[in-house]
Amino acid sequence: MRGLDAPDLLELHARGRGLPPARRALLLLEAAVPEAPADRLADLPVGRRDERILELRARTLGPAIQSETRCPRCDERLELDLDSQEFQAAAPDDPALAPPPPVTLSFSTDEGDWELVVRLPSGRDVAELAERGGTATELLERCVVDARSDGEAVASAGIPAEARQAVEEAIVAADPLADLQLALTCPECGHSWSSPFDPPAFFWGEIEERVPRILQEVHLLASSYGWSEDDILGLDAWRRGQYLQFLGA
Ligand SMILES: [Zn+2]
Repeated sequence: MRGLDAPDLLELHARGRGLPPARRALLLLEAAVPEAPADRLADLPVGRRDERILELRARTLGPAIQSETRCPRCDERLELDLDSQEFQAAAPDDPALAPPPPVTLSFSTDEGDWELVVRLPSGRDVAELAERGGTATELLERCVVDARSDGEAVASAGIPAEARQAVEEAIVAADPLADLQLALTCPECGHSWSSPFDPPAFFWGEIEERVPRILQEVHLLASSYGWSEDDILGLDAWRRGQYLQFLGA
């Protein structure tokens, strides 16, 4: 996998600008694994999707992730220094793009002995559900391949609430990057909380910050040297930086 250069970032930004977040995530995944068919990538579980997006981000911007948040209790500003390699290390070793097999869960409730077969939610599931305004419960129901209570088949909408919790836990255990939570402690007041981290949304935010800077560089170099946009984007970042320095930019 190679990182994205300035022309790649501009093209990706142009294609993703008008899309909902879950579609953008699939676009980032396609940029990460350009050799794979888009249909197959859409079937990858969400955590596997995000693992590859984190790798693309690391190759484009480096492994260090800088972010900031505020303490929900005292509003102190916290700077977060994260390492994308730590997240990636939590992902199962899965070089193949084949979706992993469904997870089987057995447990008992007041309503009987249950056996559920659940597949891991994919990027496609999340994108299609978001477009319909679907809920997290619908996402779980969509991923239940087979549900049995005391051996009798049950429609996925009929599984009890306590079973849903077990399903969610099994999904996160099988696909840990699907639900990345940062454990945070405020240095000011000592409050501890966990905050979700969404790799595709974070990387997209960085791309949105970077694109106007690239365009600004093109503008400065084009207006000073008369070069075309293609010429300027054909220079690597170091050479663009050198010419900008000559211009005192
Ligand atoms: Zn605080």
